Amino acid sequence: MPNTKHAISFFENVNRNFDRAAQFTSYPQGLLEQIKGCNSVYSFQFPVRTSKGLQVLRGWRVEHSYHKLPVKGGIRYSAMVDEDEVKALAALMTYKCAVVDVPFGGAKGAIKFNPKEYTETDVEVITRRYTTELIRKNYIGPGVDVPAPDYGSGSREMAWIADTYSTFYPGKIDALACVTGKPVAEGGVRGRTEATGRGIFYGLQEACDNAEDMKKLGLTRGLSGKRVVVQGLGNVGYHAAKFCQEGGAVIVAFAEYEGAIYDPKGLDVDAVVKHRKETGSILRFPGAKDLGHSLEALELDCDILIPAALEEQITEENSPRVKAKIIGEGANGPTTVGAEEILLKKNVMVVPDMFLNAGGVTVSYFEWLKNLSHVRFGRMDKRFEHSAFDKILHAVEQTTGKSFTETERTAITKGADEIDLVNSGLEETMTGAYNQIREILKSDTRIPDLRTAAFLNAINKIATAYMELGIFP
Ligand code: NAD
Repeated sequence: MPNTKHAISFFENVNRNFDRAAQFTSYPQGLLEQIKGCNSVYSFQFPVRTSKGLQVLRGWRVEHSYHKLPVKGGIRYSAMVDEDEVKALAALMTYKCAVVDVPFGGAKGAIKFNPKEYTETDVEVITRRYTTELIRKNYIGPGVDVPAPDYGSGSREMAWIADTYSTFYPGKIDALACVTGKPVAEGGVRGRTEATGRGIFYGLQEACDNAEDMKKLGLTRGLSGKRVVVQGLGNVGYHAAKFCQEGGAVIVAFAEYEGAIYDPKGLDVDAVVKHRKETGSILRFPGAKDLGHSLEALELDCDILIPAALEEQITEENSPRVKAKIIGEGANGPTTVGAEEILLKKNVMVVPDMFLNAGGVTVSYFEWLKNLSHVRFGRMDKRFEHSAFDKILHAVEQTTGKSFTETERTAITKGADEIDLVNSGLEETMTGAYNQIREILKSDTRIPDLRTAAFLNAINKIATAYMELGIFP
């Protein structure tokens, strides 16, 4: 899965970043160990009858931290996944939730198989069987552990998980809150599918809005006009590219596993997706140049590089050739520790995964709240807001003697829908979290980068939670 073999594992990589930040704290070693380690690791195998015959598959659910409950994190479907990777991803979830003030501990799950090699019915049977294994050991539940989509799984799989859980717990009123990322018709929240990509856009927009930081990178203020390369045209990569393009950025290249395409004048994101659907590949897109190897895209001349496929893509080997001024980590763990040291020396700004791709878990939190409250966001206040704004407009018209046009009236008096509230909550979360991290970075010249600042922010919040629980003095 990583683009080259590395001496240290993904989890070790995460822990090295943790240690780098922990040296700026004075917490007792025991507390730091408690934060860092995985609280519980459930590794299991299960037999399942598929169109390929009877198979035995391996599954995991890692609950990294119980400092807040429930724990939360996606389920990865991949033939390449291993336990170390699930542990690393679970740990990142803990830090990510802390950074964006989502009140969950971190978790992650996985099934070791490639869903693309199985029929839809097979994937459903495997998903439901995996869910029963989680139920059997109390590794799923609205107040216990709440999975979500990750690489290889999506809303369809989450609907099967919710249905399986509800079948085992008939009448349990909060059953739908056992998983997030569900289709809207089955208890999901509007805006969840695109949330991670939209969050990446808000995060990068906020980072680029700081003239002082941009000047240090030799860039002008604002996301508009910035040349962006995106690796991975899946859920995260597609939406990140789409929202950045809508925000004025120029998407100059896409990399997928089959290859990469480049057009310095800019690629139309939806047209590339349509082309890939029709031809089965991003290659040979009209007007764009095909690159010899997919990984070449990471070394193109651009302002922002968004790795949004998998971990360990920017390594000690290729980072000396990376030309981007900003790395916006859409994927989890795309930059190795060694690569980051090289990038820092080259004055590259790395906007870290645990902040930048936290949009998904943030909106998952909103979905969980919606499931627990059993009411759609906006249902209570939309009409009230509409009539209150309408009254204000009437008063202004009477005072000024001028009338608003129908278009102006509609735009001003519209009450907030669920999607408006979700996007507003997401933007507030991403911009607030970025500024918290940036302030920590600016507060101490010894803190080398945004990732260390983000880890430090997370460690402080988790340590405080443990101390509030009375577990550590
Ligand atoms: P996805 O399966 O929808 O998309 C991943 C894409 O990457 C696919 O199109 C795949 O073909 C492509 N890809 C695989 N190997 C590649 C390679 N070597 N080079 C280029 N492209 C390659 O998955 P996703 O949900 O978009 O997740 C992508 C990353 O973002 C993962 O690291 C995941 O953990 C992380 N993430 C996802 C979410 C979410 O809400 N989906 C949230 C936070 C983080």
